Amino acid sequence: MFRVFITRQIPEAGIQLLKDKGYEVDINPDDRVLSKDEIISSLKSKAYDAVLCLLTDKIDRDIFEAAGQQCKIFANYAVGYDNLDLTAAKELNIILTNTPGVLTETVAEHTFALMLAIAHRIPESDKFTRAGLYKGWGPMLLLGTDVSAKTLGIIGLGRIGIRVAQHAVKGFDMKAVYYDVNRNEEFEKDYGAQFVSLEDLLKNADFVSIHVPLLPSTTHLLGEAQFRLMKRSAYLINTSRGPVIDEAALVEALREKVIKGAALDVYEFEPKLTAGLEQLDNVVLTPHTASATEETRSKMAVIAAQNVIAALEGQVPPNLINNK
Ligand code: NAD
Repeated sequence: MFRVFITRQIPEAGIQLLKDKGYEVDINPDDRVLSKDEIISSLKSKAYDAVLCLLTDKIDRDIFEAAGQQCKIFANYAVGYDNLDLTAAKELNIILTNTPGVLTETVAEHTFALMLAIAHRIPESDKFTRAGLYKGWGPMLLLGTDVSAKTLGIIGLGRIGIRVAQHAVKGFDMKAVYYDVNRNEEFEKDYGAQFVSLEDLLKNADFVSIHVPLLPSTTHLLGEAQFRLMKRSAYLINTSRGPVIDEAALVEALREKVIKGAALDVYEFEPKLTAGLEQLDNVVLTPHTASATEETRSKMAVIAAQNVIAALEGQVPPNLINNK
């Protein structure tokens, strides 16, 4: 009988798939992130054949080694996999998988929710109204910015970036410009989108939305110099990974009104926020919940479980991210 360790409670649909296969499934009983030492001691307590881990688990060589040679796979419950040591996994012959595709719609929706929320000052207006400050309609009350017909700059035109651009162009008559390491001419033709340099994107976009993975090449892709290229009227949206932005530089840029606002779902040092960020009015902050709908989190659990099952049954898992 195969044994699977899950580092934190996930939706039942995925767990049930594993149990239906007759696997023994152990789940971290506490609804919190396990420390490295706790993961290691859990993995040493039994000979697990598979581990289902989360983006909040930093999985390094020590953890792979603690899992032992019988452990075939670490299935990441996320599309991003910057938390996994790919080099160590390859050397130790451990399969790694992720959950791409099923989050795309939800993250694209959340990106748009953030864009609309910052432009229409929704959280500020909500706070204002709840505080009893609303004394009647006013021509100058809490004026925001239109999203429609503006220019959206997409940094990273992958699955999520494309979906956000589609909503923008089709739903909001926006003009889409994008920057990526790869050009997508078909997308350009279908959506009238323009492939531009990062510099041109930053100079021309009214809304800049980031959708790149976290890599050495994308770490601090945006910092002080880049914020200074942006329009003073521009907004920055980030649902990718926090360290893509130099957060201290962003706080400074927002404070000095170098850009108009930002809406963030991810943070450089999450769950900590850079000092001063939470005091700003021109930000909207969500706690890394861009994929957090019941439907999507269930689908992620199913996909992660299917990857585990494929690996344990000797097949190539559908969402292999290493050894390609
Ligand atoms: P994807 O792989 O389909 O797209 C990523 C795009 O970025 C690709 O087009 C790639 O060519 C481009 N890219 C890579 N390196 C680049 C660079 N240096 N400069 C410019 N472009 C570059 O991935 P996806 O499914 O669209 O997801 C994107 C990212 O969103 C994930 O890696 C993950 O970190 C993040 N994400 C966050 C949440 C959340 O909850 N906030 C949820 C899902 C995904």
